[in-house]
Amino acid sequence: MPRLLRIRKNVFTLRPRGNEWANANINILKSRKPAIIDCGSTFGTNINYFKKILRSLGIQTIDKIIISHSHIDHCQNTGLFAEQFGAEVIAHKNAIPILKRSKQGFDAFDYWELVEEAFPRIFHSRLNWLYRRILLMGFNFFVYKRGGRVKNVTTVSEGDVIDLGDMNLEVLFTPGHSDDGLCLLEKKLKILFTGDMIPWTPYIHTNIEDFRTSILKILKYSDEFDIKTMVRGHLRPQDAQIEKKNYRIFLRDMDVAEKRILTLLKHKQPLTSKDMLPYIFQRTHFAHQLIYRVIMRTQQFWIAKYLQDLEHKKLIKSSKKGKKTLYYLME
Ligand SMILES: [Zn+2]
Repeated sequence: MPRLLRIRKNVFTLRPRGNEWANANINILKSRKPAIIDCGSTFGTNINYFKKILRSLGIQTIDKIIISHSHIDHCQNTGLFAEQFGAEVIAHKNAIPILKRSKQGFDAFDYWELVEEAFPRIFHSRLNWLYRRILLMGFNFFVYKRGGRVKNVTTVSEGDVIDLGDMNLEVLFTPGHSDDGLCLLEKKLKILFTGDMIPWTPYIHTNIEDFRTSILKILKYSDEFDIKTMVRGHLRPQDAQIEKKNYRIFLRDMDVAEKRILTLLKHKQPLTSKDMLPYIFQRTHFAHQLIYRVIMRTQQFWIAKYLQDLEHKKLIKSSKKGKKTLYYLME
């Protein structure tokens, strides 16, 4: 299958090398001011290959680099690409610490705390500091130091329009998967670039409420502007009708998961999140690869977020007993 897909006459998606679920696409807009949405990682797309692709499209340079969110698979190359092309980097303000590498180590990554939570045998042991050090050294060497740091970032927020000469991208702020997520709407071409707000996203950072609101926003805008194509950060772009259906299924599955938690607690309480885990998920909910479930413990992330959401809605409550957190129904 070709790595370069043509979405419209002047819009292309470059798919990464290697695993497409773990490496992100680069979208290339051959507008009067040529732009890309996301940069990919050094593992997914290297600079020489990328330049070759640009030449084949008759693009001399890149004016603007827009970052859908600051996860490494989407933005690792940003510093390198910005320097090579002298391009302006555009992102949400919450993406700045990672893009500028001003936060170091795992603390820069919002999910690290959850990783520690999900692997209690390793990270709650007395050797925690050692495991952290080894992982951190590897991570810094293989991931964080590569790709370089970004010097300047132009920030955008909800409703801003990025002018590319003969194309315009309207910014939708869509937190949930990350706290800096942007979707980009090209009304004339009827395309919505959705980043990682994908209806099978393995990971949610902010909370269920944000995530739900962002999906509803995506559905609203795609209806209102009669969007034909949804271009995701991973895998192939999707027909908007199909993708909207996927979003609705995903929303429904989230409801089902929360209802199951409440039903379980009605039958027996208190329960820990581990007790509930085997009963929560539908097949469609986690239609992604085993690698996420095993390495990133994504199901544990999700159940933690559901429980947080139900507590926030005052439907359940929790209490600590030793290292365990126990959940009860609210009376
Ligand atoms: Zn992401």
